[in-house]
Amino acid sequence: MNTSVTRPRGRHFFANPGPTNIPDSVLRAIDRPSIDFHDPDFREVMDICFDGVKRVLGTQHQLFMYTASGHGAWEASLANLLSPGDVILLLESGYFSDEWAKMACALKIEVRVVAADWRHGVDISAVKSALAEDKAHVIKAVCVVHNETATGMFIPLPEVRAALDETGHPALLLVDTISSLGSIDFRMDEWAIDTVVGGSQKGLMLPTGMSFTAVSPKGMRAHAKATLGRYYFDWSVMATRNPPSFVGTIPVNFFYGLKESLRLLDEEGLPNVFARHHRLGEAVRQAVQVWAGNNGPQLFCTNPGRYSDSVTAVLMPEGHDAEAIRRTTRQKFNVSLGGGLGKLGGKVFRIGHLGDLNEPMVLGALSAVEMALRIDDVPHGRGGVDAAMDYLARP
Ligand SMILES: *Cc1c(COP(=O)(O)O)cnc(C)c1O
Repeated sequence: MNTSVTRPRGRHFFANPGPTNIPDSVLRAIDRPSIDFHDPDFREVMDICFDGVKRVLGTQHQLFMYTASGHGAWEASLANLLSPGDVILLLESGYFSDEWAKMACALKIEVRVVAADWRHGVDISAVKSALAEDKAHVIKAVCVVHNETATGMFIPLPEVRAALDETGHPALLLVDTISSLGSIDFRMDEWAIDTVVGGSQKGLMLPTGMSFTAVSPKGMRAHAKATLGRYYFDWSVMATRNPPSFVGTIPVNFFYGLKESLRLLDEEGLPNVFARHHRLGEAVRQAVQVWAGNNGPQLFCTNPGRYSDSVTAVLMPEGHDAEAIRRTTRQKFNVSLGGGLGKLGGKVFRIGHLGDLNEPMVLGALSAVEMALRIDDVPHGRGGVDAAMDYLARP
């Protein structure tokens, strides 16, 4: 018998929480010959994109884009706002807050962490205490990952804003919205966020490779005094370019894709986009809660007030490997799931439900997982997919 694994036929079902599915119309829009990035036709596209991204961010402030993945925009946010030895307060959320902290340390920034249980999420009163104790206002910035893609939980940003306001603390508020933008409600200006970090390959449904930061006037004032080394990401160097934007060649094709993805978001309307993500996320949670019966896999997040509508992390029962489930869904059903990140490796798998996604796509991924649980002899409650269908079929 031929034991080599061949990829099953049919469409590759992509249920990762980033990158995400790229709509066909976005692929078509990117597929075009090169054009001079000074060409007025292109400049028009770029202007439309800058306006559109600001609309999705809920901001009127300045926007800087980079040819880099989200990590680049993270680095831009720190390097532009801080000086060596500056102190930041970072809210622990999971793998991505750990990564941001590591980056800050590498840049010679002192990181104070508000520690949190990854399954329950950070306690906002602990954030408030840390700010209240800092009477000398040593903390220059508070850094928050809005939606922790590794754990499937979000942090309520208005509550973080309130903690700063109620303690009268002047620190900048920096937010990573990489896996919440275009899937979970986000309002930069209304929530008085000073710098936002975003990326292309999650809710914006584009390939990986473009990221951005938007910056408030308070952030720009801090930037003027910040002395960390930087060049490609330097907002002041960018300001010398015409128009103020990329240091170096502009990734022209990306902008054609971005224009189309922004058009898709506009056409659906952001409130409807958020409602769709909530519905699909809830369907996934309903399925997992059924599997959790019979000591099966369960929701990693134990705090229902913090469930993420863009990704669900599923914790395997003791002694069962999450990577085996991912292998089974990929090899047998051509379904790709997200893996566990950092210390969650092998313990959780993640179902992405953000981006260009509808009910049958989510049900397809859930069915593949439920079949894999049977094939791999993982204890679980049966009927998770039924529960998801029941939920989605409600009027
Ligand atoms: C994906 C992600 C990142 C990292 O972005 P890259 O594009 O992979 O560099 C950072 N933060 C969050 C919350 C993410 O989901």
